[in-house]
Amino acid sequence: MKITHDMHNHTLFSSCCYDPAATMKAFVDKAYELGHSVIGISNHLWDEKVPGANGWYKGQTIDYGFEGKYAIPADTHGVKVLFGTETEYCGLSDTLGMKAETAARFDFVQIPHTHTHMKNFVIAENPDVKAYRAKLAADIEAALPSVGHDYAVKMAATVSYADVLKRIENPTVDEYKYLADFCFTSFESLMKNPEFKKVAAATPTFVAHPFWACGISRDEVNRVFDFILAEPDRLYADFKTCAELGVGLDVNMGCYKADEDGTYMNDPQVKVMRIAKSAGCKFVFGTDSHSVSGLESIRKGDLVSEAIGITEEDLADIVK
Ligand SMILES: [Zn+2]
Ligand SMILES: [Zn+2]
Repeated sequence: MKITHDMHNHTLFSSCCYDPAATMKAFVDKAYELGHSVIGISNHLWDEKVPGANGWYKGQTIDYGFEGKYAIPADTHGVKVLFGTETEYCGLSDTLGMKAETAARFDFVQIPHTHTHMKNFVIAENPDVKAYRAKLAADIEAALPSVGHDYAVKMAATVSYADVLKRIENPTVDEYKYLADFCFTSFESLMKNPEFKKVAAATPTFVAHPFWACGISRDEVNRVFDFILAEPDRLYADFKTCAELGVGLDVNMGCYKADEDGTYMNDPQVKVMRIAKSAGCKFVFGTDSHSVSGLESIRKGDLVSEAIGITEEDLADIVK
């Protein structure tokens, strides 16, 4: 199926967009060039009415984000432009980064539950990593008493998560299993979150890149998927809950890699989404592009839709 919409992308209003050409107008023009009927812009935002934003989100407020709405050009060449957002869900604290009354101001909302690169905000560090940092802090304090306890803890916290993982000699936790468990529990707690249910009732709502553990290599993500796909019944039940809430899923181009034969038939994210389809979920496609040229990756979606088995009737109403 030819995909003629893009409901997940980031212009310069997102702090992680580094393409100086990525203006709202450039995205709309590119959507027209790609033959889209709909483009939904989804910059990262955290509602200032919700306490607990981390440093990265502090500048990406709703008032700031709405500047993007005013930047939508008057002439869209007939492309329907939807003003949405990708907010945040922190499974660690069961905190949704947006109130329903705020979500209602957007044409749609994308909610990620797997921004697992945001340690100690979205997800807790795994217990081995925590124990390693505690030991490192104690060692620093013992070797350098003048540093003091608090500063030793801060110093131990500066070593990257990946570096700590490499240094753990006898892990008690499988990091990939830990991430897979988090993908499940964060999805499940999101579905039960009272504010999320209000958001879903207030505006078209989608789970962004479902079950995709962010911040690790594709090979590592595949190891996480091995654990996730070992629980197909649990996946089905979770997606069924999602479908019953009327919440759709983001078919995110960043999550799919073609097999050697050029199809996506054996891609693990495809396998996850096939289960979602069987549970009755609706879908929208998105590039998650952070640049103008990245919007071209929507063409992957033509093949990905076939691999998952998504037809016109499986699309969410908002893109029809
Ligand atoms: Zn995301
Ligand atoms: Zn995104």
